[in-house]
Amino acid sequence: MPTYNAPLRDMRFVYHALVDGDSLHELPGYEDATPETVDAVLEEAAKLCRDVLQPLNRSGDEEGCQYENGVVRTPKGFKEAYDTFVEGGWPSLAADPDYGGQGLPHLLNTLVEEMICSANLSLGVYPGLTHGAYRALHAHASQELKDIYLPKMAEGTWTGTMCLTEPQCGTDLGLVRTKAEPSSDGSYSLSGTKIWISGGEHDLAENIVHLVLARLPDAPEGIKGISLFVVPKFVPKADGTPGERNGVNCGGIEHKMGLHGSATCVMNFDGATGWLVGQPHKGMRQMFTMMNLARLAVGVQGIGLAEASFQGAVQQAHDREQGRALNGPAYPDRKADPILVHPDVRRMLLTMRAYTEGMRALGAWVAKEADVAHAHPDTSRRRAADDLVALMTPIVKAMFTDLGYDVTNLGVQVFGGAGYVRETGMEQFIRDARIAQIYEGTNGVQALDLVGRKMPANMGRSLRRLYHPIAEFIQEHQDDARMQDFVQPLAKSFGRLQTVTGWLAQKGMSDREEAGAAATDFLRLMGLVAMGYMWARMARLALENEGDDPDGFHAAKLATARFYMTRLLPQTGALMSAILSGKDSMTDVPDSAFALSA
Ligand SMILES: Cc1cc2nc3c(=O)[nH]c(=O)nc-3n(C[C@H](O)[C@H](O)[C@H](O)COP(=O)(O)OP(=O)(O)OC[C@H]3O[C@@H](n4cnc5c(N)ncnc54)[C@H](O)[C@@H]3O)c2cc1C
Repeated sequence: MPTYNAPLRDMRFVYHALVDGDSLHELPGYEDATPETVDAVLEEAAKLCRDVLQPLNRSGDEEGCQYENGVVRTPKGFKEAYDTFVEGGWPSLAADPDYGGQGLPHLLNTLVEEMICSANLSLGVYPGLTHGAYRALHAHASQELKDIYLPKMAEGTWTGTMCLTEPQCGTDLGLVRTKAEPSSDGSYSLSGTKIWISGGEHDLAENIVHLVLARLPDAPEGIKGISLFVVPKFVPKADGTPGERNGVNCGGIEHKMGLHGSATCVMNFDGATGWLVGQPHKGMRQMFTMMNLARLAVGVQGIGLAEASFQGAVQQAHDREQGRALNGPAYPDRKADPILVHPDVRRMLLTMRAYTEGMRALGAWVAKEADVAHAHPDTSRRRAADDLVALMTPIVKAMFTDLGYDVTNLGVQVFGGAGYVRETGMEQFIRDARIAQIYEGTNGVQALDLVGRKMPANMGRSLRRLYHPIAEFIQEHQDDARMQDFVQPLAKSFGRLQTVTGWLAQKGMSDREEAGAAATDFLRLMGLVAMGYMWARMARLALENEGDDPDGFHAAKLATARFYMTRLLPQTGALMSAILSGKDSMTDVPDSAFALSA
């Protein structure tokens, strides 16, 4: 079983140097986020993850959740670990001080979430969703609902869920059938069945707060007729403690490929009492508050699992001895050389590292902008930050989770057969990573969101929030001899991105199928360029610090940046060719060609 130690050195570099997270503590509300506090929080989180969460990762996977008569038992040790998590105040880290929170930046919370995902993703799903539900209620619920629910959720004594999916509706939420009938006291009575609800039932918390999409009797058909409700497992009493059992019950849990410690539940609403959140029929807009946050958080799951797998793979590459280096023994005193000497193993390790650190850097930039969008006093700066976050959300969700899967897959490959057998723990990372490509909107749907909604939004204004800083960086460093290895490949790939953006804007406008056919490749192309920009920025910082590098951190950054620029970023060329070939190779194929032959 690989051990996990949080990559604190890299996290501090990203927070303090790369994205200048320290500037956040000058913003109203973030005064407490001093560099010392940030470092102390990171260190404490690292200990919690190493000592409390990670030791339960494999046993939780083996044992899974158990269901009996409506009751769900989480794996042994989860309840105690969750209690420790709550006692440490971790659920409230980025919550609003007016409702029980510590008011620390989302950027810091993102790094802590990454650690939790590396250590024990299954356990991390429960508080992760709770935070998303907290945000949605915070943004849209009435004062009365906020006062009842938010402090308990920030405390972690009550957890949250997101109840969207039904048997007939996954991606297409316009097909939601769950009904909400108004009651005379201003509440609603909800009936229907939701499936695959993460954390729908469990034994970790004293109450569970479901955010549920349902239809009012006068609702228009489709997506415009959906409203959002809060439905607690136990209806809170006047004093705020859990009261009567509500009419919502767990009908069973799923047996899944991975994420075994996270209960995935069928939830039956049988005249359950709920309260409307926000305006009638505007539920999708309100739920998007939760989904956007959850999409960023799911992207972080990709980083966390990639990091955990990378740490295991690096250790194995040092320990496992097989064959000799191609140009003669590198460690003649050993019976064989460690597999680290083989170029193909280095290819795998560097790919893992370049993607993992690249995701952390890019994710941190987006998270910091989310904080700026939340707290900056200047409206236009807030809007600019919000535009960037909106544009990058589908990229963080889809590219990070795809790469999370790819990196964990490479981790198994570095281990060889030992990676495929269970006891090394490497295959669990792949199984746990796989769902992140599907839930919170499949990655294909994220790509459609990027090309169909985010790119054209506000006449391309969001796009400029990404393209302008990249163009400025290239211009600023184009004559810097030491930056040529980084700026030239970035400029080349950025040129490809601009070409394809122009093509897509033109073609996609007249033929939506062209945009649909290009979407996934386009998302990857844009994501690789954005990551390339972060690698170029990291290279510049590493060059500035080259002379003072006792632990070799900056040398490793430079080496990885070079690998990214020469070996990974050139994928943009193939992606551009694929996109410019147009939709015909897909859409001209008749449906009958997909018939199964006997
Ligand atoms: C472990 C687990 C946990 C989950 N947790 C939750 C939860 O907490 N709450 C909740 O509400 N749901 C949850 N879900 C459900 C999850 O969000 C859905 O599975 C997901 O949104 C996809 O829906 P679907 O499975 O019905 O796939 P479908 O919608 O049937 O899609 C199948 C395929 O078709 C593609 N596709 C569908 N429509 C389009 C389109 N218009 N254009 C292009 N391609 C399209 C998809 O990309 C996908 O590849 C969970 C699921 C699992 C497995």
